Amino acid sequence: MATEYQDHTHCLEMFQKLSEYIDGELDHVTCAEIEQHAENCVACFSCLQTLKRTVAICKNARQKPVPRELSQRLKEIIQNLPETTSP
Ligand SMILES: [Zn+2]
Repeated sequence: MATEYQDHTHCLEMFQKLSEYIDGELDHVTCAEIEQHAENCVACFSCLQTLKRTVAICKNARQKPVPRELSQRLKEIIQNLPETTSP
């Protein structure tokens, strides 16, 4: 794994697709992009894990897969990410 400069703009774009990703509505290429990004981005990785867990709970509770509240929370997590500085 290379130490790459973390581009949180990419994170935000990714998060906008996450609900579709979780719902299985995305094509394979986009899914792969998300997974690849999550592998290199700790913040997105942990969010993805949390999201998957939450979705599993919601499905067990027979609610809608991704509550609107959740995507709102994800945005807050992104906004609270520590600033990364390029070398
Ligand atoms: Zn990210």
